Amino acid sequence: MPQLNENFLKLEKNYLFINIAKKINAYIQESPDKKDSIIRMGIGDVTLPIAQVVVDAVKRGADEMGVKETFRGYEDSGSGYDFLKEAIAGYYHSFGADVRAEEIRISDGAKSDCGNIVDIFGPDNIVLITDPAYPVYVDSNLMSGRRVIYADCTKENGFCAVPDYNVKADLIYLCSPNNPTGAAFTTAQLKAWVDYAKSIGAIIIYDAAYEAFITEPDTPRSIFEIEGARSCAIEICSLSKTAGFTGMRCGYTVIPEELAVTASDGTNVSISALWNRRQGSKFNGVSYPVQCGAAAVFTPEGQQQIKVNLEYYKENARIIGAALDELGIYYTGGKNSPYIWLECPDNMKSWDFFDMLLTQAQVVGTPGAGFGKNGEGFFRLTSFGDRDKTIEAMDRIKKLLAK
Ligand SMILES: *Cc1c(COP(=O)(O)O)cnc(C)c1O
Repeated sequence: MPQLNENFLKLEKNYLFINIAKKINAYIQESPDKKDSIIRMGIGDVTLPIAQVVVDAVKRGADEMGVKETFRGYEDSGSGYDFLKEAIAGYYHSFGADVRAEEIRISDGAKSDCGNIVDIFGPDNIVLITDPAYPVYVDSNLMSGRRVIYADCTKENGFCAVPDYNVKADLIYLCSPNNPTGAAFTTAQLKAWVDYAKSIGAIIIYDAAYEAFITEPDTPRSIFEIEGARSCAIEICSLSKTAGFTGMRCGYTVIPEELAVTASDGTNVSISALWNRRQGSKFNGVSYPVQCGAAAVFTPEGQQQIKVNLEYYKENARIIGAALDELGIYYTGGKNSPYIWLECPDNMKSWDFFDMLLTQAQVVGTPGAGFGKNGEGFFRLTSFGDRDKTIEAMDRIKKLLAK
């Protein structure tokens, strides 16, 4: 009889979105007349369609696949076509990050890479993860039996974790701009993490999935804008939120050539070589038409067209933030991020506030407690919804909470 990987049995059940759905259904049963007025501000998925220049490029790629002369089977490397890697390297250079095309690997998204990167590290590493955090980091490490410790994000540090030199870790997960808090590191804050990682010999796994939402100055889009990061960091990014690729699937991971770790026999092992070995055995690349579409995102027309959608979401975020400002409610995010992370009024708990918004304003958000213990008492609203509904939801919240 096979033995199970019993680490899976130790995982906490992820009830967050199941509970939300249950509560909404129960409310609709009780008050069927309210069903159509419910506004969902909890969604973590984009809603606007993909840019036309991207759609055209995907179609062109598909057409090429239907012609013998231009048909493509397995990709030689499985790590992405050069045309896409070069386009991404060019994008990095445009904001001053030192990344070369050969250091980029194309993937089917950031979630896979965030989860799979743990394969190349041993089971005894200590993994430092911020609390609250995107659940993938914790779950994928617990699945492979690793010890996870937490770096607190609180109102006191503006939900930007600060390195603690008394804590020793081997792997550190950072996400900026952050999901769920929307907070983004300044250059100095991120530099402090790079300095810390270098001083304790740790590697930072940096999730930059929301970099395209950054608008404020002095807010790095990539950890490779920070001096010293090339010897201590891996960056994982995605086109999901940048260009509406949640249903298309394309991301990329950057591992600098010089990033290396000393093995137990004393040899210096390249992290990039190890990751290539892992991917070469377990991954066969991203479909050609999708890579054509991804490359179109980085053309001048592509950048112009994705900006229209990003601006739409950012304006929604501004509307949410303005309403909270009027109410005098503390929040992070909304400026460099589609997420707004607010403090529940009157010391309410996350789920109590959820119930109140649902039953008294018919607005659905995401209880912060679902993202870690420091999320208790906080609540996430997203700007991925419709403009009119966002305005209506914030009007209702203002009426409900105005003193
Ligand atoms: C949405 C999201 C991603 C992107 O995941 P994909 O697999 O590329 O769709 C990565 N990290 C965070 C924190 C996210 O919220």
